[in-house]
Formats: sequence, C-alpha cells, structure tokens
Amino acid sequence: DQASPRKPHWIRAKAPTSQEAAEVRRLMRDKKLATVCEEAACPNIGECWKRRHATFMILGETCTRACAFCNVRTGRPDALDEGEPDRVIESVAAMSLKHVVITSVDRDDLPDGGARQFQRCVAGIHAAAPETTVEILTPDFRDKPGALDIVLESPPEVFNHNLETVPRLYTSIRPGARYFNSLRLLQRAKEQAPEVFTKSGIMVGLGESREEVWQVMDDLRSADVDFLTIGQYLQPTRKHAPVSRFVTPEEFEDYARAARAKGFLLVSATPLTRSSYHADRDFEALRRA
Ligand code: SF4
Ligand code: SF4
Repeated sequence: DQASPRKPHWIRAKAPTSQEAAEVRRLMRDKKLATVCEEAACPNIGECWKRRHATFMILGETCTRACAFCNVRTGRPDALDEGEPDRVIESVAAMSLKHVVITSVDRDDLPDGGARQFQRCVAGIHAAAPETTVEILTPDFRDKPGALDIVLESPPEVFNHNLETVPRLYTSIRPGARYFNSLRLLQRAKEQAPEVFTKSGIMVGLGESREEVWQVMDDLRSADVDFLTIGQYLQPTRKHAPVSRFVTPEEFEDYARAARAKGFLLVSATPLTRSSYHADRDFEALRRA
C-alpha cells in the first residue's frame, strides 16, 4: 500500500444527491449500463449528474489491462453483450442528451478490440437522434489492425484517446500501452477523418516535470490533435499509484495558457478536469462560436 499526500482544499468532491443524479442512476441500472463516472469514482459525479451529463462505459465492466491509476476491475471479461449498443442508444434518447461521451474498458481479448461496438453505438445514436453530437474515448487498439477503420465507418463528432501521462512514466503507470502507439492512433484518426475533432488528455501529479508536459503538448499538436484536457491524478485506493504531488490551480492556469498558445482549440486544465468534464458544454460553445 502506498499513501498519498493529504488532499488540498481545492480538491472537493460533491456527493451525487440531486434528484437528477438519482434519475441517471436509475436509468443506468434499468438499462444495465455502466458509467465511468461511477467505475472510476470520479469526483465530479455530483456536478455532472445534476446536469444529466454522464459518460457511458461500454464493452462490460472488466478490463484486460491493469493501469496503475485506474479503479476499473481487471480480469477476464464476459462475452460481448450484443444488446448493449441498443440500450446505450435508448438511454441517450431518454436523457435527451445534446452531447454524449462513450468510453470503454480495453478488450484485448476481442479480435477488433471492441471497435464494432463503438461503431454500432455511434451509428445508432446518429440515426435515432441526429442533433446529438457523439464523443468517443477509445482504447489504443494495440495489435488490432483495422480497428480504427471500423470505428471511423460511422465517424463521431469527437475522437478522444488519452495519452494519460508523459512517456517516461508509461512503464510504471500505463504498462500495457506505448506512448507513440497512442499518439499515432490520434494522428491516423485525423488523417482518415479530417472533419472529426481529435482530443486527448493527461493526468498530472504523477511525478512528471513541467517540461515533460510541454513536450506532450507539442507531440499532440504535431499529431494535429484539437482538444486537450489536463487534470490532477487522484489515487482511487491505496493499492493504486500514489499521488506524487498536488499541482496548484495556478500551475494549471499556466498549462492552460501554454496549451492555447500552442494552438489547441479547446483546453480544459484544472485540478478536477477529467476527460469528459464539461465536454458537453465546451463542445456546444465551440460549435456556436
Ligand atoms: Fe462522469 Fe466525466 Fe463527469 Fe466524471 S467528469 S462525472 S467521468 S462525465
Ligand atoms: Fe483502466 Fe483503461 Fe487502463 Fe483498463 S485500459 S485499466 S479501463 S485506464
């Protein structure tokens, strides 16, 4: 077990006690769907669910990888749930979402890494709710040639894949992944579907230096990535990687300024930023601009 330093006053989670949050929870249970909001024990759940903004987690609740920062269960996953895309589509309609975020566990056991399930969700939402914009946050599809092509058969409005941390920390924090493989996935998505916005994010407070974060920003811009999120890493349990330090709100502002100067179209960099935090609002604002 590894302890983290005490949380500073700027990290405050609000409990999901609103009426709207109860409705989201009920709908997810009824439809037998998982959210990353709950699985990752996200500190923003009170705020997001009150606004009926949630991130669906498809392809089951068991991941074939075991990243040192992640609270999702690891092991041998269940068989692919063929009915899952329809239940996601029905839930999006029931929640009247303007913007939906869909992510998944990693499914290295499936021949396409789960790409077809993403494609079915996006195609179904676009057909059932043409006004709803869709953001997918995908696995890296390592060793799954053709997976990205399947996903892009039904292009989402936003293609998101997180780098999670700086390359030096991959072996300890994200051991199943390769930094340049992830970067290349983002670049290929842009090359193959230039009309789709690309997005990525990292957590800070894991031991990275400021210069390393800047380098990640430069790498992402050279892969033509449009949106960036940076948030404070929080240790889900003492069995996960400890927090190295709490990055101050002022340092986050510096990162946000640097990212805008480097040309990202949308930047969210605050202690409680998560990949999907305010994704609905920010994307809506960009489209109106
Ligand atoms: Fe869910 Fe994302 Fe909001 Fe967290 S930030 S509660 S994961 S929608
Ligand atoms: Fe968690 Fe994703 Fe890593 Fe699986 S691949 S352990 S869901 S971060």
